[in-house]
Amino acid sequence: ELPPLYIITPTYRRPEQIAELTRLSHTLMLVPPNLTWLVIEDAYQTNDLVEEVLKKSSLKYHYMIAPMPAQYKNKTKGPKPRGVSNRNKGIEWIRENAKTGVLYFADDDNTYDLELFNDIRYTKRVSMFPVGLITKAGVSSPIVKNGVFTGFYDGWIGGRKFAVDMAGFAVSVEFLLKRPKAKMPFKPGFEEDGFLKSLSPFEPRNVELLASNCTKILVWHTQTKKNGPSLPLDMAKHNNTNLV
Ligand code: UDP
Ligand code: MN
Repeated sequence: ELPPLYIITPTYRRPEQIAELTRLSHTLMLVPPNLTWLVIEDAYQTNDLVEEVLKKSSLKYHYMIAPMPAQYKNKTKGPKPRGVSNRNKGIEWIRENAKTGVLYFADDDNTYDLELFNDIRYTKRVSMFPVGLITKAGVSSPIVKNGVFTGFYDGWIGGRKFAVDMAGFAVSVEFLLKRPKAKMPFKPGFEEDGFLKSLSPFEPRNVELLASNCTKILVWHTQTKKNGPSLPLDMAKHNNTNLV
């Protein structure tokens, strides 16, 4: 029996949402069994269109909501802590419902090679691996010399102890459960670093290096081009649809 895999996906309402979730659902449908998809929407209520995508997938899922606190949502300048309340809700769910296995933060817009899900399943503490299409540097990854971790390669180190992307690591559930205070901070740019620091005691040299010693890219930080606001009501006039 394979160790359970918990995939935490933050999502939020925008014209691209259903397309992103449809594509991710199709990826996860190809992952061997014992996967639970935790989909958490940054919203005050659930959306039937999202639920429909999840149902159609026939995956084991839990659909929850976790709005971004208004103080951040209403901010007009500077970056926002995107997906943080969602991921913390997923972590809470795992604390209440899981005992073994591995958790992975899979944003709704990234691209995942199926090999990634085999690789991370046996994580004992925290595993790490390269993420493609990150900043001008092209990739974010642990640096590995003779099979040993020696530092982080990232377009922006920013004084971080763990200079990694959200998609570049997985965590053992048992390891997390032994650290009851671990959570993600509402700190744009430092979400990964803050979360990984909260897993103390844990040092960068303790990471498990995956993706063939970080020589392969199995996940890409793809970003969907925004077309601007759509005009669904125009269409409704013609076909009486409830498209968002
Ligand atoms: N997200 C969210 N609320 C927001 C913005 C983003 O829940 O207000 C989610 C989004 O669906 C994604 C994750 O947080 O799964 C990261 O957001 P995004 O992909 O926009 O960030 P980027 O990849 O550009 O850093
Ligand atoms: Mn993204």
